[in-house]
Order: sequence, then structure tokens, then C-alpha cells
Amino acid sequence: MTAMDPILRPSGSRAVLIDGKAAAARVDAAAREGALALAERLGRKPCLAVVLVGEDPASQVYVRNKIRRTESAEMTSREHRLPASVSQDEVLALVARLNADAHVDGILVQLPLPAGLDATRVVQAIDPAKDVDGLTAASAGALVLGAPGLRPCTPSGCVYLAREALGELSGRHAVVIGRSILVGKPAALLFLQADCTVTLAHSRTRDLPALARQADILVAAAGRPGMVGVDWIKPGATVIDVGINRVDGPDGSSRLVGDVDFEGALATAGYITPVPGGVGPMTIAMLLVNTLAAAARRAGLDLPEPAARMLTS
Ligand code: NDP
Repeated sequence: MTAMDPILRPSGSRAVLIDGKAAAARVDAAAREGALALAERLGRKPCLAVVLVGEDPASQVYVRNKIRRTESAEMTSREHRLPASVSQDEVLALVARLNADAHVDGILVQLPLPAGLDATRVVQAIDPAKDVDGLTAASAGALVLGAPGLRPCTPSGCVYLAREALGELSGRHAVVIGRSILVGKPAALLFLQADCTVTLAHSRTRDLPALARQADILVAAAGRPGMVGVDWIKPGATVIDVGINRVDGPDGSSRLVGDVDFEGALATAGYITPVPGGVGPMTIAMLLVNTLAAAARRAGLDLPEPAARMLTS
């Protein structure tokens, strides 16, 4: 992969913005092409089932966006809505039905689940062959082993964007801040698989600014608004900001910010993802590619190009 054209270099800054929206649009287009090709072989469109439990407003927006982009990519989406009062057994029974349904290729349970439901048990009940979020123990194990499997979407998006900016990642030092199952840990493993030298930092890491300053690629996934200051960034480093934090302004309005002091980082970083419009749009793009990959693998087919090139490992 070659380094991308500079998308935007704001005046007075050295950093090039990595346009996650544009990258996601390219991945979506590849997924659409792949879905059309695969549908001819399967005799039906690849299908993603989304399970939404309860009325959480943010989850409803995420699910709506996932369904819209799935359908734009010529895949079928099935939405399964359950009330917050549903029992654990009822959710597990739905997952079992979707596992058994030969026409469902991918299953996504929107998290978080309402209080009283055990999200770990529900996620672990998903058939690993349909685990398009890459969160089951089998998917995590395959990632550790470097074996084929479905990789978590947001971390895959991080690697994809770093590759778009830098091309080859081999030998670069990636420092990942955050060790969650959803983002930090799999991101570290994916950068490792891309032959980076990886440091995984967390809330107990000592002298984090000095450590971060050693990074060629700095991935911020702590969920702390503006935590990564300009003095945490090595000049020319690539900064991937995963954080999505809602902060209130003095006038009572609210806005989304990342974990990086964006204005400060513009003067130091080589490449940087904005928030919003950086990693965020890539998460759904990778979900589409995973759905396609699941559909192909379940049918014993190769994932068609160019979608196959979009997989990060
Ligand atoms: P979690 O809260 O699950 O994990 C946060 C991690 O950051 C933990 O490992 C924690 O360390 C570490 N951390 C917290 N504070 C500090 C600190 N001061 N210094 C160093 N490390 C710290 O969050 P997620 O991983 O789920 O999400 C992280 C961020 O990414 C959030 O802002 C979330 O909204 C965003 N996100 C964005 C997505 C996207 O599509 N762009 C998708 C998913 C998440 P410890 O383990 O020691 O507690």
C-alpha cells in the first residue's frame, strides 16, 4: 500500500489530517463491490443481524447507521429489537436462533446491554464464524495465534488508517494507550501482527508522556478528553485518536472531542486523525468487510477483491 495523498494540511501546522470519512467511503465501496460479487455465488445477499436491547439513544443511532451502511453496501440487514425488560435466557435464545439460521452471516449485539443482562455471556454465545465484532474468546484466541478469524472493527480501522498514512508499518514503534478488550488490547495485537514493536500502556503506566513520546504511531484509546498533550507526541509521529468524548462548552452546548489535544498536536504530529471524522467512520466500514468475510468463509469461498485487501490481518 502506498502513502496516501495529503488530504488536508491546515495552515501553520505540520500535521496531515487522515480523513477517516473518505477512507471509510472507499472501504464501503469495496465492500459493496464484494457483496455484489458474492451474492451471485451465494444466490442471496450477505446478511448481518443486529440485536438491539432497550432504548439507549446512542445505541439506537449506532444501530441505525450500521443498518443504513449495510444496506447501501448491498447486504441484507435484519434488526432484532428487544425491550430492556427481556430476560437473559430470551436474549440467549435469540442469539441461538441467529446462530442456527443459515441465511445469517454476521451477528452483532449492540453494547452496552441494559443493567441485569450479562453482556459477556451473550457475546460469548455468538457462533465465532458469525462474530463480526470479533469479540468472542475464539476470535480473540485466533488474533493472538495470528490464525484466520474475524478481527474487532475499531482496532482494525486504526491499523487501516495508519497504513493509509504510512504505507508499510513494519518496524515502527506503536504505543497504544488503553487496554480494553474492545479497543486497546486487540489494537496492540493487530499492530504487532503488522510487525510493529508495540507498547501497551494503561492507567498504571509510569511516566506515560515520556513513553508516548517514543511512539512512531500513537494510538489514544483511554476515553479521557484531551489527555494526550502536545508534549506527548514525537515530532512527525502518526496519531490515531480513538477517543469519543462528549464535553460541555461554556454556553451549555456540547461537542465531541478525542483523547488528544488536537489543536496542539497539529503543530507536532506528522499525521493525525480528527474527532469526529477519523477512526469513528472506519468502525462500521470494517464491520461491513467482516460481514462479507464471514459470508465468504461460511460458504467456503474466497473474499473477493478489492474487499480482501481491506482486511488488516
Ligand atoms: P474503556 O474505558 O473500556 O478503557 C479505557 C482504557 O484506558 C483502560 O484500559 C484504562 O486503563 C485506560 N486509561 C484510562 N485512563 C487512563 C489514563 N489517565 N492514562 C492511561 N490509561 C488510561 O474504554 P474503551 O476502550 O471502550 O474506549 C476508549 C475510548 O474509545 C472511549 O472514548 C470510547 O468512546 C472510544 N471508542 C471509540 C470507538 C470508535 O468507533 N471510534 C469505538 C469504541 C470506543 P486501565 O485498564 O488501567 O483502567
